[in-house]
Amino acid sequence: MSANHSLQKLLDELGRLPGIGPKSAQRIAYYLLEADAEEARRLAEAILEVKQEVHFCSRCFNYATADECSICQDPMRDTTRICVVGEPRDVQAIERTGSYHGLYHVLGGVISPMDKIGPEQLHIRELLARLGHEDIHEVIIATNPNIEGETTASYPGPYYQAAGRRGIASGERPARGRRPEYADELTLGRAIEARRTI
Ligand SMILES: [Zn+2]
Repeated sequence: MSANHSLQKLLDELGRLPGIGPKSAQRIAYYLLEADAEEARRLAEAILEVKQEVHFCSRCFNYATADECSICQDPMRDTTRICVVGEPRDVQAIERTGSYHGLYHVLGGVISPMDKIGPEQLHIRELLARLGHEDIHEVIIATNPNIEGETTASYPGPYYQAAGRRGIASGERPARGRRPEYADELTLGRAIEARRTI
């Protein structure tokens, strides 16, 4: 394989990454060419490791390196609360606020007819199953406040109530409608705290 061919292969792969245009791909490729072999090896290993080690938590679909994620395994968490989010990165955003100590449920996206994503493509069935067998007193919907997020938030509403009728959340209504804004961590933290005053 010629040097040009090798370089082009790297440029092609880098160019596929989100937010990396042709110029950035070139800058990174030349940087790696000049970096020592050890540095390049560490990067390659980190990429392989994250692909091999990180998968989805069997309970909440957050990122995990074991069967359950570190939050689900943490005995200090309040297991009577579930915060429903779209993506694992939303879990990280809420965790950074330090304002929430319950569990999560990651839907794996939001309802978006344009992208052919309906409720059956998301982990809504698994959420309802959790409401059926875990002792949940409060469901906090924290999908983004855009059209897709709102649609996703309102979709399982009747199901939460059905879950309530099966004996979950007796006496306490799930705190819906208090969706944190994703402006910044402070706003998000305040939104999470505000929902406690309902
Ligand atoms: Zn989990």
